[in-house]
Amino acid sequence: MPEGYKKIKNNTQKKKAPPVVSSIFSRDMAMDLGTANTLLYIKGKGIVVNEPSAIAYNEKTKEVIAVGLEAKKYLGRTPEGIKAIRPLKNGVIDDFHLTKAMIREFFLKVQRMNPLLKPKAVISVPAGITQVEKRAVVNAAEEVGFGRIFLIEEPMAAAIGAGLAIEEKTGHMVIDIGGGTTEVALISHAATLLSESVRVAGDEMNEAIIRYLIKAHSLQIGENSAERCKIEAGSAYAVEGLPASYSISGKKAGSGKPTEITVSSDEIRCAMEDPLKAVKEAVSRLVERSPDDLLDDVRKKGIFMAGGGSLLRGMDKLIEQEVDIRCLLTKDPLTTIVTGCGMALENIKKYRKVFVN
Ligand code: ADP
Ligand code: MG
Repeated sequence: MPEGYKKIKNNTQKKKAPPVVSSIFSRDMAMDLGTANTLLYIKGKGIVVNEPSAIAYNEKTKEVIAVGLEAKKYLGRTPEGIKAIRPLKNGVIDDFHLTKAMIREFFLKVQRMNPLLKPKAVISVPAGITQVEKRAVVNAAEEVGFGRIFLIEEPMAAAIGAGLAIEEKTGHMVIDIGGGTTEVALISHAATLLSESVRVAGDEMNEAIIRYLIKAHSLQIGENSAERCKIEAGSAYAVEGLPASYSISGKKAGSGKPTEITVSSDEIRCAMEDPLKAVKEAVSRLVERSPDDLLDDVRKKGIFMAGGGSLLRGMDKLIEQEVDIRCLLTKDPLTTIVTGCGMALENIKKYRKVFVN
């Protein structure tokens, strides 16, 4: 167990016995360690964990109380003595020990760890992070008990997961809009030729909604309500079918009195203007930097979009308008990256060129 943090003990998650995949062997794993969600894929099994990247612990005893969905419920409303955090920020590890504790708990939900077997791990990381930030991911996985760690950049994992023929000489463009980062990459010959990375994505959109509601309506809401408002009423472009009005409850700024207000979809879109602009401009910069011949390929096939942020209504339209190239969402944007990591794990030899460490 990482220093200072003890294993989960007698909490609600423990009531149901974890579906242990194999009781003897630690199997190789692929992981999408995202700012918002962590997904695990076990070799030969597929995706076995898909939960928010969150951990709750007892502040005094440092005992881990919950991870994932259970821990997310504690965010912003923790009872005395319990602290809940999201240990990754903007695509990178913010709290090393808690990230390690979270990975370990997720893994133990489905698999027993036998460090003597040194299972392999393929882990996706943002393309725009530093060597030190990459090293932290490798160290965390090693300390959990994994042997060889293979890192893969998120847009590359998304391209593999989307079933694109990455090894061909044609150009592919992929966008991954997550919680903390937006990454755009031009891929050809199994390599990332160019990429753009901004530390702005879904989380910033939630924060923009929180700031707007305080400023315009004196309404205070938490992170989870802001995310719900974004998903249910938000949009990146004025597409059809948006709700005309949306009710949000929170506290009146100042008095703290419970209040409910009604906002329009247009208002929410305007509130998110800055982060939306940052996302479309990142794509625009990559298109401008791309060589003509590869850009021709991209124009023919379209730009592929993955990550939860690409599910925001009208996100594809916003980018299409900006760069005048068709945008297509992958089949399941929230699992595309871990699917790509899993495909690389199943055939490490074939994909050896795509690993970045
Ligand atoms: P990460 O890789 O950073 O963990 P994900 O790819 O899991 O991020 O995407 C999480 C982000 O996607 C969050 O900001 C979440 O609010 C957002 N998201 C998920 N579903 C939707 C949706 N239907 N509409 C808008 N945003 C969404
Ligand atoms: Mg991601």
